[in-house]
Amino acid sequence: MSNEPAAPARCWHWDGTAGRYCRALDGVRRYLTGYRCPLHTPAALAGRPEVP
Ligand SMILES: [Zn+2]
Repeated sequence: MSNEPAAPARCWHWDGTAGRYCRALDGVRRYLTGYRCPLHTPAALAGRPEVP
């Protein structure tokens, strides 16, 4: 990952059903794929338990 400009820590998971980004603010953490809320972490999307 290269340096990125400061951005709001929002979940940028694309919700294809709703046709918009999740953009949740609560509990957002940064993952390899970017910021994700607890519902949309890579592990959650893969149906696996969260890795500490
Ligand atoms: Zn989300």
